[in-house]
Formats: sequence, structure tokens, C-alpha cells
Amino acid sequence: MIVSYNYFNSVVNRIRFCYHLFMKDCIFCKIVSGEMPYYKVYENENFLAFLDIYPRVKGHTLVIPKKHYHWVYDVPEFGEYWESVLEVTRKIQRSLMPKLINYFTYGIDVSHAHIHVLPRFTETEFLPKTINLSKTEMTEIAEKINSAS
Ligand SMILES: [Zn+2]
Repeated sequence: MIVSYNYFNSVVNRIRFCYHLFMKDCIFCKIVSGEMPYYKVYENENFLAFLDIYPRVKGHTLVIPKKHYHWVYDVPEFGEYWESVLEVTRKIQRSLMPKLINYFTYGIDVSHAHIHVLPRFTETEFLPKTINLSKTEMTEIAEKINSAS
């Protein structure tokens, strides 16, 4: 099939437009730009960590790139990304003293790359059910992790 250059261009522009709309609606991009409130845990030049607002354990943290990429493996600074996860891990170890810490990626819910960091205390399920934590508890947990050296 031969596709004219103009047709191809219009399709590309339409895709670009949709991509723009989609990024505008990305809740993690809104967190990065400060349009959405969040419980900050850690930040460096390219990555940001905050508490998941639907926590499955105490201290359930998400680590995201500040730039929008769909999948974790789309992030060009992949090694630096995991180094940031390790920084968060150390902070959680020092502040919450969990038994162990799990990581997982899913990405179907929010299409902005994020790595889940789950400190484990007594839970033994592969993926524990969500728990309820008050705003005060969330703020305290975030501050505790954030201030850990
Ligand atoms: Zn985004």
C-alpha cells in the first residue's frame, strides 16, 4: 500500500495531538508540576518518590521519573532510576525498619512509569489488599521516611 506523505503527516499530527492531551491528563505529571498534592518521600534531579494514596502496606511508595514515559523500561536513565529506588529503600529501612522490602511494576492503572516500593512487616500475601491510613498518618509516614538520612 502506498500512503501519501500528506496523509502520513496528518496521522502523525493526530497522534502527537492525542499524546499531548494524554500527558496533560497524566496525574503523575500533575504531581511533578505541583498541580496535585502528594506525600513526598524523596526527590533528586530526575526522579520523585511519594506515598501511594491507595497504600497496601504502611510506607507504600511510588518512584517515578519526572519526565513522562509510559513504561519503566522506556526510561533512558534506567540505572539511575533503580539507584533512586535504592535511595528510597535505604530511607525506608532506616525509618520504618520493615522485615523486607518488595518492588513491583504494573503500569496499567497510570500510564506514567512507576515502581512500587512495598515495605513488609507482618503481611505475607504476594500483593496485600489496600489499607486505610488517615491524612495525618500519611503525612507522618512521609516525613519519617523523608527525614531519614
Ligand atoms: Zn505523566
